[in-house]
Amino acid sequence: MARVRMAAATDSERAIRAAHAAFLCWRQVPAPRRGELVQAIGKELRRMKPVLGRLVSWETGKILSEGLGEVQEMIDIADFAVGLSRQLYGLTMQSERSGHRLYEQWHPLGPIGVITAFNFPVAVWAWNGLIAAVCGDTVVWKPSEKAPLCALAVQGIVARLAADMGHPGVFTLLAGDGSLGRSMAADRRLPLVSATGSCAMGRSAGESIARRLGRSLLELGGNNAAVVMADADLNLALRAVVFGAAGTAGQRCTTLRRLILEEPIAADFTARLVGAFSSLREKIGHPLVEGTLIGPLIDREAVERFKQAVARIKSEGGEILVGGSPVGPARLPPECSGGFFVEPTLVRAGRDLPISREETFAPILYVFTAPDLDRGIAIQNSADQGLSSAIFTRSLMAAETFLSAAGSDCGIANVNTGTSGAEIGGAFGGEKDTGGGREAGSDAWKAYMRRQTCTINWTGSLPLSQGVRFDLE
Ligand code: NAD
Repeated sequence: MARVRMAAATDSERAIRAAHAAFLCWRQVPAPRRGELVQAIGKELRRMKPVLGRLVSWETGKILSEGLGEVQEMIDIADFAVGLSRQLYGLTMQSERSGHRLYEQWHPLGPIGVITAFNFPVAVWAWNGLIAAVCGDTVVWKPSEKAPLCALAVQGIVARLAADMGHPGVFTLLAGDGSLGRSMAADRRLPLVSATGSCAMGRSAGESIARRLGRSLLELGGNNAAVVMADADLNLALRAVVFGAAGTAGQRCTTLRRLILEEPIAADFTARLVGAFSSLREKIGHPLVEGTLIGPLIDREAVERFKQAVARIKSEGGEILVGGSPVGPARLPPECSGGFFVEPTLVRAGRDLPISREETFAPILYVFTAPDLDRGIAIQNSADQGLSSAIFTRSLMAAETFLSAAGSDCGIANVNTGTSGAEIGGAFGGEKDTGGGREAGSDAWKAYMRRQTCTINWTGSLPLSQGVRFDLE
């Protein structure tokens, strides 16, 4: 589609220095004034939504409603951040010493590094960048080398508005690949690096950030599961499962990859899934054509990884019920030629299917059965990752068990709605190998600020805490 020049080492050196200089001014701008810039960004994103949404679809292969949805997510987080700009609250505590006031306040942190993955090429930046901006940080963004165009488009919007409003340098973009991400992770001038991507990337970035005692916010891979109990609304569960597993061609961190069916409904529900997955084969096509539900994978390597996963499924004893093949040009309309399409694939997992413990970034759903909820939760929690999870049930007891301390071990746990996707109002992120980071809503903003605890003595005496005495005379 286009060629994008990667930043050279001198470019990134200059950009990080400039982002630091801009921070020294931006941190002094009152937070509600900072919110005005983000409000203007939200307004412009509303105007640009149709073109930006199409660009997201063109570049990543998401269907148009998902491309538009991604831009809507940026608009939503902009609105959230504007409100937040007047709500960066600290607590006041009761001092144990008389005549003393004890409180905490939140200050901007510095230039923040944001490394994003290809599959949410602009929304994840907005979760980080717009919250960081109202917190008083400047933002250095390294988008995925697989999706730099929509990042350039967004950067064009936000940098222009920032400059027009007298705050040049708040937002910076550096195009580059993993090596640029590695140098950002090691750069002490970036007190926080927020990195979204695979678990392997997070392990590498997390280690270098920890080595320099920096802060990391890691949003890594998922291997999400849903439990369907026999008493569930099975029509609703079916729709949620199919969208969760096959939507975005299986390329969401929250994509449903493992399904656990309670034994009494396992055979019937699997048969309905076979029907639904088979019908999806007619819906593979160009993401911008009305009616398409399954677009392409991101690139040739992704198709190779899908083929390797299918080979392992077979060798490990899994049974492919639907799909399992790439979709070649003969089965595609002409406008899809050159695209990297695969069939949504449904697999009956045996007792142990090691490949199901790995995240293959493609539409493959492994189906397990469980005799009861306890076993279902155990299978759900057996993955190394801990991002998103769901239960489908009409039983209050089953739902609450799933949500209890002994239930799902994920950062996201849903009842009667699928694993895939999330609203910006909640803090987003996952446990275990997913990295432990939280972004977007709730109090996730605290990651982008430094907390300062302040004690003010407004008396003429100097009582020490814990009753310690240190009398000079
Ligand atoms: P990826 O790990 O290949 O790349 C992600 C980003 O990291 C890219 O910008 C890349 O250039 C950079 N990078 C690569 N190696 C690096 C290193 N050693 N140090 C620093 N940066 C490095 O991931 P991808 O293929 O673009 O995206 C898919 C993955 O991202 C999946 O695992 C998916 O689950 C995950 N993801 C997670 C979330 C979440 O919020 N948890 C959201 C979206 C995607």
